[in-house]
Amino acid sequence: MKYSALALLRGALAGHRTWTPAWRSPEPKAAYDVVIIGGGGHGLATAYYLAKNHGIRDVAVVERGWLGGGNTGRNTTVVRSNYLYPESARLYDFSLKLYEGLSRELNFNIMLSQRSHVMLAHSRHDLESIARWASAMHMHGIESELLTRAQVGELLPALDLSPAARFPVLGGLRQRRAGTARHDAVAWGYARAADALGVDILQNCEVTGFETGAGGEVTGVETSRGRLRAGRIGIAVAGHSSVLARLAGFRLPVTSYALQAMVTEPLKPRLDTVVISPGTGAYVSQSDKGEIVIGGGLDLFASYAQRGSFAVLQSVVAATLAMFPSFSRLRLLRHWAGIVDVVHDSSPIIGPTPAPGLYINCGWGTGGFKAIPAGGWLLAHALATGRSHELAEPFQLERFTTGRLIDEAAASGIAH
Ligand SMILES: Cc1cc2nc3c(=O)[nH]c(=O)nc-3n(C[C@H](O)[C@H](O)[C@H](O)COP(=O)(O)OP(=O)(O)OC[C@H]3O[C@@H](n4cnc5c(N)ncnc54)[C@H](O)[C@@H]3O)c2cc1C
Repeated sequence: MKYSALALLRGALAGHRTWTPAWRSPEPKAAYDVVIIGGGGHGLATAYYLAKNHGIRDVAVVERGWLGGGNTGRNTTVVRSNYLYPESARLYDFSLKLYEGLSRELNFNIMLSQRSHVMLAHSRHDLESIARWASAMHMHGIESELLTRAQVGELLPALDLSPAARFPVLGGLRQRRAGTARHDAVAWGYARAADALGVDILQNCEVTGFETGAGGEVTGVETSRGRLRAGRIGIAVAGHSSVLARLAGFRLPVTSYALQAMVTEPLKPRLDTVVISPGTGAYVSQSDKGEIVIGGGLDLFASYAQRGSFAVLQSVVAATLAMFPSFSRLRLLRHWAGIVDVVHDSSPIIGPTPAPGLYINCGWGTGGFKAIPAGGWLLAHALATGRSHELAEPFQLERFTTGRLIDEAAASGIAH
């Protein structure tokens, strides 16, 4: 069923009883050409691009819980491509460009709002860093603007620029094409489009082991809903990447941490820009519902618990109120955490693994929502062709043996 204004009108006239489920819930088949583990944004996008770009439709996405129930449904929805190194800038800008056409392509409104993203500079050192950063972005062909303190004040009237402010603001770095997108819609949009192309989405189906052939190649997965044979297998499970790697018999340079976020009660439009303050340790935006969405740094100990520690929550709230003192009157509505997969150069891993036939997409850490279209596109390319796409070449697992790391810690936000 194509979604359109006319379909909405027809649905309304029929009392909204004519809508069909957005995707099927099929029984697992015994064998697939490709099995993708993880029904988050990256896994679902991989399935969609496998079917669309490569014509491979005999695909299953295996999700142990519900679609988007991992980090994809728990993140703060910021999309941007203001990265420092050429490899990363190319990758994230490719993703942002795919996002820009995604609602139309998927026929599903992902509510992309390119309201711009401003990084605050609190010191002379910060000013020098953002100047270098802006120059690097220009060299990569990505627009960016350096803002004066007065320009920051015009964009963010609620920001405390008074002499009494705890952290002075000296300027900012702005990317106008950055903003937010609706996280659930990204997962649902890819799921619906992949399902329409024949992909089986298997929820409540946990992968518990791998089957291997005589040469050590993977030939299938064991799941809580039975065995599935597969020609090739992709892993896109974010914070559980090292768990799956251990099941497949190899190790990953990934540490899993809890990353938390929160929203306040809704209020009238007050903040129409995403603002990040690396100096204070918080970033803030306002959702379409009016809630103030607040994110901050990682809990600094490894964990698989999907909840964050009080100390980090407290420091993120303190940082937010240092920037926006008027928010102190708001009540917190919800607070949650996800488990993110941090690689020690803060860059992703996309490509083959030591197990033949098994490919992985992981290591996006605190910043993989913005990368969902690109991550899916590139994992699909590797699964379909057995080779890495040129955009993914710098992001192979082997960089941890060659030493060609891409240290994006600064550009990956405040959380690393
Ligand atoms: C609080 C928070 C804020 C964030 N903010 C941003 C942001 O503003 N911008 C941004 O770009 N990124 C952000 N991120 C990071 C982003 O959310 C993730 O990088 C991204 O969603 C990862 O997507 P994914 O599809 O790889 O993983 P997930 O969405 O986590 O999906 C992986 C899926 O794998 C499933 N799975 C795990 N093990 C198994 C198994 N054995 N069998 C079957 N299925 C399994 C899980 O249930 C899960 O659904 C944030 C993350 C958090 C937690």
